[in-house]
Amino acid sequence: MALKKGEEYIASLKSLGLEANVMGKREQDLPEHPLISPSVRAVAATFDCAHRDETRSLFRTCSSLNGEEINRFTHLHQSAEDLVKKVMMQRHCGNLTGCCFQRCVGLDAANAVFSVTYECDQEHGTNYHPRFRKYWSRIQQEDLVVDGAMTDPKGDRAKRPKDQSDPDLFLRVVERKRDGVVVRGAKLHQTGMVNSHEMIVMPTTNLTLEEKDWAICFALPTNTRGVKYIYGRQASDTRKLEGLGSFDAGNPTFGGQEVMAVFEDVFVPEERIFLNGEVGLSGRLVERFAAYHRQSYGGCKVGVGDVLIGATALIARMNGVEHAFHIRDKIVEMIHLNETMFACGIACSALGHPTKAGNYEVDLLLANVCKLNVTRFPFELARLATDIAGGLIGTLPSSKEMEDPVTEPYIKKYLAAAQGVAVVDRIKVLRLIENLVAGAGAVAYLIESMHGAGSPMAQRIMIGRQGEIEAKINRVKGLLNIS
Ligand code: SF4
Ligand code: FE
Repeated sequence: MALKKGEEYIASLKSLGLEANVMGKREQDLPEHPLISPSVRAVAATFDCAHRDETRSLFRTCSSLNGEEINRFTHLHQSAEDLVKKVMMQRHCGNLTGCCFQRCVGLDAANAVFSVTYECDQEHGTNYHPRFRKYWSRIQQEDLVVDGAMTDPKGDRAKRPKDQSDPDLFLRVVERKRDGVVVRGAKLHQTGMVNSHEMIVMPTTNLTLEEKDWAICFALPTNTRGVKYIYGRQASDTRKLEGLGSFDAGNPTFGGQEVMAVFEDVFVPEERIFLNGEVGLSGRLVERFAAYHRQSYGGCKVGVGDVLIGATALIARMNGVEHAFHIRDKIVEMIHLNETMFACGIACSALGHPTKAGNYEVDLLLANVCKLNVTRFPFELARLATDIAGGLIGTLPSSKEMEDPVTEPYIKKYLAAAQGVAVVDRIKVLRLIENLVAGAGAVAYLIESMHGAGSPMAQRIMIGRQGEIEAKINRVKGLLNIS
């Protein structure tokens, strides 16, 4: 049953019966929880887009595995054009939701695992690739959401996995059985994990020969016994509990989600294992997944950036300053920064190339340039938005004051700005900006821009490696006739 609608996705998610610890309480029926439901709606949007006239051709494509029409969020990229369309799709989702819509991580993991399992089979005589093809074909046919889980807690950063005082600080195999393995550990910062049907778990770093137990990649249903979820807090998250009448949450409909996932001696059956002890492939998998996810940010963060630019231009109009030269110039600067990130996302896609397995990989250098820009530009966009919006984004009274007959007249009188602008609308726009620069939305827009898909130093290392310094030096030597 390919191509679910949003409501079918939500029904299928509910049927998993996932539980999580949310703010100190064990919670069931997660999709209905007011802290969580905005993030479920954001994922649901990725399904509905495949059914809307304006977006169906962008969001639908043909599976390379089974020939069926599928949602592009489960596609194995078959061309550079596919990579470009992925970025455009992500920008559209960012525009629509103004937040992290969570579904890209599994897509990026699948494309990385697809090619790395192929290479592993070639090099080690394993049979992971046909296994993964079969697994992913089902994901496509059932139109499932898959989380990609990479980041281990990492403990003492100066020590390797095998040297940690607690070896579980990197997820590892603790027991090998005839028909599978038992794993223990945790994955942090898991975007959308309790909104997913499945997860692909990958190692987090390159590994040495003595670290075979950490070289494990597998897939599991999210409702597997022994996997525990602890919900992540976001700034101002409890505003989501204030109900639909309140607009203090900033983004009235959508939001992101991150959890900590604990694997308490979890059994993984053989047919769901895609790497098991082949340490040499571990670093390759990390690098490839990271590259796809660094490309992703050239779409999703740009889409959210569009929302921030729109809100900033609108508040300038509401404040009566939209024609001031310095305001117009700052908004131009925001557009310039945002489109620069988009240009990098498109460029690393357009220069994509086929892997040995046949799916397409992004240009590594440009994907890393894309992400390094993303570690900076959204912060500058947020600074400019804060500058233009004014101090009210930090001091606005509660929306409840609009319901109080004593305070409401004062709010209306003293928060009035340009003529014809309803005060309540002005407050809504200010709250949206607050959400993105300092509230729950800033988790994805700012903190994740810095650290998601690897912190800035990881991109600088890759840029140093991919930058072909020697070739550049030789070019100069040739030009100057230096031997
Ligand atoms: Fe997708 Fe962006 Fe969210 Fe990552 S941060 S899952 S790329 S929307
Ligand atoms: Fe991310």
